[in-house]
Amino acid sequence: MTDEPKTTYKRVMLKISGEALMGDQGFGLHPPTVERIAREVQSVHEMGVEICMVIGGGNIFRGLQGSAQGMERTTADYMGMLATVMNALAMQGALEALGIHTRVISAITMNEVAEPYIRRRAVRHLEKKRVCIFAAGTGNPYFTTDTAATLRANEMSCEAIFKGTKVDGVYDKDPAKFDDAVRYDEVSFDDVLQKRLGVMDASAIALARDNDLPIIVFSLDEPGGFKGILAGEGTYTIVKD
Ligand code: UDP
Repeated sequence: MTDEPKTTYKRVMLKISGEALMGDQGFGLHPPTVERIAREVQSVHEMGVEICMVIGGGNIFRGLQGSAQGMERTTADYMGMLATVMNALAMQGALEALGIHTRVISAITMNEVAEPYIRRRAVRHLEKKRVCIFAAGTGNPYFTTDTAATLRANEMSCEAIFKGTKVDGVYDKDPAKFDDAVRYDEVSFDDVLQKRLGVMDASAIALARDNDLPIIVFSLDEPGGFKGILAGEGTYTIVKD
């Protein structure tokens, strides 16, 4: 273990969207992709970093889509939150298969499936190097899992949120559509809000800004990317004041 890269981070939040788990399928869960991401988490866990995770539900259900199709919004949002529990369980299975101890902690009580959220208990899990996967978002409709990740990161005293995406940072315009899109190395919370840079939704950005919690946007498709950034390498954008 002596040649392991050193990290200055002791505790981090990894936020990934549900879509990150669906591979090229366009919907649902792709087990080899879940396993690949679990290995990325494993490599950071081996560095001794305490890891919180929040996984979205967009690969299964998003409340806004349901409400656009005529469903009542809050019901649709609860369905979205339940989708995140499925993703959390899939990630738990993949991590435990790699020998990592985990807890799925749900904001909506479902004792047979996951632990209820009790802040001090979750902190203890982290101290024991268990990966805590926070499921069911904030437990409230009209929020997103980006806000849930920011909320839990604050509650758990994480030093940063790592937002894994398809691209290696925040660009001034969509790099998938514009060849001349420019990546920021660093950008302020206020610029993200004013320029609507689409890092996370506005509530999440404001909550991170007001609590001085930096957000590191990086590519989850880059093998070793998560560990690399923790070791001080790689390409990413840091959002901070
Ligand atoms: N959701 C919610 N409250 C929360 C978190 C999530 O109502 O605190 C619902 C909401 O309907 C959302 C869905 O769960 O659309 C899935 O979460 P999200 O869209 O954030 O997933 P992602 O885009 O990250 O995959």
